[in-house]
Amino acid sequence: MHPFSLERPRDLAAALALRAQAGRNDAPVEYIAGGTDMVQLLQEYVRRPERLVSLAGLLDNRIEVGPKGLRVGAAAMMADVAGHPSVVEQYPVIAEALLNSASPQIRNQATMGGNLLQRTRCPYFRDVGYAACNKRSPGSGCAAFGGDNRWHALLGTSENCIATHASDLAVALVALDAAIDVRGVSAQRTVALNDFYRLPASTPHIETVLQPGEVIAAITVPLSPATRRSHYLKVRDRASFEFAVVSAAVALEMDGARIRQARVALGGVGTKPWRVPRVEAALTGASLDPTALRRAAALAAQSARGRGHNDFKIELMQRAIVRAVETAGARA
Ligand SMILES: Cc1cc2nc3c(=O)[nH]c(=O)nc-3n(C[C@H](O)[C@H](O)[C@H](O)COP(=O)(O)OP(=O)(O)OC[C@H]3O[C@@H](n4cnc5c(N)ncnc54)[C@H](O)[C@@H]3O)c2cc1C
Ligand code: SF4
Repeated sequence: MHPFSLERPRDLAAALALRAQAGRNDAPVEYIAGGTDMVQLLQEYVRRPERLVSLAGLLDNRIEVGPKGLRVGAAAMMADVAGHPSVVEQYPVIAEALLNSASPQIRNQATMGGNLLQRTRCPYFRDVGYAACNKRSPGSGCAAFGGDNRWHALLGTSENCIATHASDLAVALVALDAAIDVRGVSAQRTVALNDFYRLPASTPHIETVLQPGEVIAAITVPLSPATRRSHYLKVRDRASFEFAVVSAAVALEMDGARIRQARVALGGVGTKPWRVPRVEAALTGASLDPTALRRAAALAAQSARGRGHNDFKIELMQRAIVRAVETAGARA
């Protein structure tokens, strides 16, 4: 591990000022929250900051469910949100995405803000033995082209990077039109989570619209009739402690036996959490008939591009959508 000093600022303003001096990505000064992703990357020399600024005790950790929706402070632990009775009842897709993430030990240590900013699980990014990784080392190339790409993306890729976004939570939140409150040195703003993540294009090392020093302060999810009838389906190589091969987050507003409105987002297949508006439009007015669902789900594959080892995900993601819609639709 590259040596670093740990800063424990007295308040958030001091933390923001410390980090803001240091530039955008993989800077010499970085934040650390629960440390569950950061420490792994430090241990593997993937990240080499000289100073780590601890956010412990500086950010809100409240979970509030009210008439306008859900608000979760960025410092809330994944386990606390997953087990919150109102989240379980009114936002099951969020509770399920969290419970299907990592392990109980990690969920008790990891924060909601840190989850949204975890780095990709692309094995070439996480192994500095591979020199070619545009995300880790801009301009160096991409070892996944020509390498094993089973874990990689079908949607939103560029010739510079095909890494998937790893967060299950982010997929559920994107499906629910969540937004995040961002705090910087001199201003605060709200960003729709769907606009928060950038596509890799020619700059895969710049993953979000955060400016230097800005923190995620809170997550907000608007209340809608669809949130209760929601489901997160995660397909993975083993039943726990594993990232998604493919996942689908679905929220439905029903009109009797027909879908009035559907929200669908995919994980494991996109370079960011992937909303599928064409599928949503095709589901509007449909019944839960498997043929109609299958026809709508096929639209998710329209712009998908497999790279060989990950071709199977094109079929798998369509099946995941169908099953997730059926499960959400069966909910009272
Ligand atoms: C073995 C293992 C299995 C896992 N499995 C899954 C899984 O199945 N699904 C899944 O979704 N995740 C999984 N994870 C990822 C895990 O959920 C994340 O590591 C965790 O949520 C990160 O939160 P943290 O508070 O520990 O963040 P940290 O590790 O402290 O930080 C992560 C990043 O976020 C930045 N950061 C943290 N908080 C803020 C903030 N408020 N504002 C700005 N920047 C911030 C840090 O600078 C750092 O870059 C797994 C992790 C491990 C180690
Ligand atoms: S896919 Fe992206 S993260 Fe993985 S090696 Fe290529 S550039 Fe790096």
